[in-house]
Amino acid sequence: MRRSRAFIPTTKEAPSDATLPSHQFLVRGGFINQQGSGLYNFLPLGKIVLDKIRKIVKEELDDAGCSEVQLSFVTPLSLWQRSGRAETMGKEMLRISDRHDADFVLSPTNEEAMVELVKNRVTSYKDLPINLYQINTKFRDEARPRYGLLRGREFLMKDGYSFHASKEDMVREFDLMEETYKKIFTRLGLDFRVVQADSGAIGGEGSKEFHVLADSGEDTIVVCDVCDYGANIETIFESEEEIDALNEKSYEELQSKSIEEKCNCGGTLSFKKGIEVGHIFQLGDKYSSALEAKFNDETGKPQAFEMATFGIGVSRLVASVIEQNHDENGCIWTKETCPYMVNIMVSNIKETAQVELGEALYTQFREAGVETILDDRKDRFGFKMKDAELIGFPYTLIIGKELMNGEVQIYDRKTTQKVGVGVDEVFAKLMELI
Ligand code: ATP
Ligand code: MG
Repeated sequence: MRRSRAFIPTTKEAPSDATLPSHQFLVRGGFINQQGSGLYNFLPLGKIVLDKIRKIVKEELDDAGCSEVQLSFVTPLSLWQRSGRAETMGKEMLRISDRHDADFVLSPTNEEAMVELVKNRVTSYKDLPINLYQINTKFRDEARPRYGLLRGREFLMKDGYSFHASKEDMVREFDLMEETYKKIFTRLGLDFRVVQADSGAIGGEGSKEFHVLADSGEDTIVVCDVCDYGANIETIFESEEEIDALNEKSYEELQSKSIEEKCNCGGTLSFKKGIEVGHIFQLGDKYSSALEAKFNDETGKPQAFEMATFGIGVSRLVASVIEQNHDENGCIWTKETCPYMVNIMVSNIKETAQVELGEALYTQFREAGVETILDDRKDRFGFKMKDAELIGFPYTLIIGKELMNGEVQIYDRKTTQKVGVGVDEVFAKLMELI
């Protein structure tokens, strides 16, 4: 992409309600813009990042034997009435009616629709297990949409649902998904913890959450410094007041609070703040029984499916990467999530030699399959450099005055170090780094 042709509307000012770095930098860097309360547009850079995350999620799920589908976003209210959730979902579930006064729901999740899809289509134990997922828009009329993409009203979620002939097999799949989610978050370069979680309104027995560690996280978790034990405080403390009080506390305030108890392994437990990016539940037959979704077991007897459900906040992940990877000047994308890997900056567009080298390297990198952007704008070097830092390309190749001595510079966004490299070596050097 040529920067002169790109639509990357960067700005100096952050929106007044943007208190978190991810919210500020994603808007200022021209990744997203707010359309309304909890509603965001993804601009070209934001869309690239979103699609990259989506691709990683898909690759790992497909590899684990899941199949992608896409259900309609609008679902008939009758479906939710049959499961009983039309009553229990409350105001988060947005209802609409059509020209014939028929009632619909903008899907906040899709257990009912998935059960309905599988019902009468999978009829025998021989067809089981199956794990279907989609990466699709969700709408939740959140009481307090905030923090940009972290808590939107319309957002992108990966929601998966598995169907089994026995509880044992469902637990096997649950464990497989835990491993698969770990692979996904590891590939994204995130520092995360898997924690025991409360099953909440969706119901079911076993439930685990995946939290990206960040001081700004809305959730409070307890983790061990030796083993991989972790738990959401919702599973540890009984009283709502106590949980709310801890969630209100900042990361710093929590550090001074000691936990009396030791971990079972003998390690020390401490409080951390986390952003919930994934949640896996063992559902049992809650929905299959309510919606009379059955298969014939080995003896020919009809049984309700054993189910599990698996969610990932795909758009929330875009912001989570930045909550964990930024400095005071902007975003620092990980290699798996960056909008472009290499930003070739022609310092002075009036210098023919600089332009020519920029063009040649731009072609060379693209031919090598490297996602490259060429900053060929007429603006001053300092302005372009600030822009590069704000957006957070992993590497910026600066073609400037040193070209007279046959040298260019590689700027590493993460370390903020600049190193001089000979023109002849720069391609090989960058290919080594990426
Ligand atoms: P939270 O406690 O943050 O409201 P939840 O328990 O309601 O999350 P789930 O119903 O398990 O969330 O949804 C699956 C995933 O979707 C969550 O783990 C989270 O990453 C993401 N998610 C949920 N609500 C939102 C939202 N309002 N905006 C963006 N992502 C969300
Ligand atoms: Mg919620």
